[in-house]
Amino acid sequence: MSKLKSVVLKDLVKTYIGNDGNLFTAVKGINVEINPGEFVTLLGPSGCGKTTTLRMVAGFEIPTDGEIFIGDENVSRQTPDKRDTAMVFQSYALFPHLNIFDNVAYGLKLKKMSKEEIKEKVDSILKLVGLEGLGLRAPNQLSGGQQQRVALARALVMEPAVLLFDEPLSNLDAKLRVYMRNEIRRIQKEIGITSIYVTHDQSEAMSMSDRIIIMNKGNIEQVGTPKEIYEKPATAFIADFIGEANIIDTKIIDKKDKAVTISIGEKEFKLSIDKDFEKDEDVLIVIRPEAVELSDTGNTEVSIKSSIFMGAYQDYLIDIDGVELKIVQYDPQHKKVYNKGQRAYINLDGDIMHLIKK
Ligand code: ATP
Repeated sequence: MSKLKSVVLKDLVKTYIGNDGNLFTAVKGINVEINPGEFVTLLGPSGCGKTTTLRMVAGFEIPTDGEIFIGDENVSRQTPDKRDTAMVFQSYALFPHLNIFDNVAYGLKLKKMSKEEIKEKVDSILKLVGLEGLGLRAPNQLSGGQQQRVALARALVMEPAVLLFDEPLSNLDAKLRVYMRNEIRRIQKEIGITSIYVTHDQSEAMSMSDRIIIMNKGNIEQVGTPKEIYEKPATAFIADFIGEANIIDTKIIDKKDKAVTISIGEKEFKLSIDKDFEKDEDVLIVIRPEAVELSDTGNTEVSIKSSIFMGAYQDYLIDIDGVELKIVQYDPQHKKVYNKGQRAYINLDGDIMHLIKK
């Protein structure tokens, strides 16, 4: 596609008047730059403002304050039809009385394109989304996954600069969701279109995105690749929201250059840091459950408080000097399994810890 465009949100605010007559700010002045061709996910819990943000990019909501740029153009106050965007909805929003071909062709007909050109474009898009040969079917003769492909085809055929997705897979069953998220990513990569995808499903965001924008209570808490967000969550909210995390309250005991000393129970640990922390500052330590390995040797003795076989992994709750950690050990069929009450050891060191400001 020739017209790859960036999307820039500048100090974007949306305030609604609630049912009680009070003002409610759903989006509180967010700033983000999405690169041309990038696939970015807005991820966060229900009510965090992700759909409102997406709808402002589409033009369905007008910002209370701030600006939206698509490429060099300030589109903040343009109507949706003037913007170079197309949206794929959760509900598919297909016309039930039109066949698949005509559903996809609808926007092109409005543009007064010739019959030949429409046929060529619709056929090629139906092929791209894997619906070749199904043009004459009615929407109710297709499965949910196929209907979602039609919705995608209808957006793509308009050749927008930016594709917007509003929880498009929510109505599909779990297996089909996994299949369709790979399909959407394949198609997006094939045409390289700038995409913004709203979801509250972290595995969808992790598996599809170049970068994830984590929203919470109308603010952006972190923007990063899935790996950055998982390995270096900026806040305790993110550490807890993305994957499983042990979050331990502690204090910086000592600080020297780019290293700090902290304690867990009776034990002290040295960590290298990439942020500024002060001596005596209260901090949180994040330890992922899979980062800790149980064995018969190690620098820290632990007691096993529970041990549960989960098939692919063994789920443990362990105790270190009164501090509890949940840990998981994959492939328990081929590893030593420790039972409740047994003694075991772990190697606890700074490499598996990530510090967060409190
Ligand atoms: P969900 O995943 O549940 O859709 P979300 O993160 O997409 O959540 P939004 O739909 O953007 O959240 O809503 C953010 C907040 O703004 C919510 O508290 C919602 O109730 C409120 N809100 C959204 N639209 C309106 C509106 N038209 N009028 C008043 N309040 C609104």
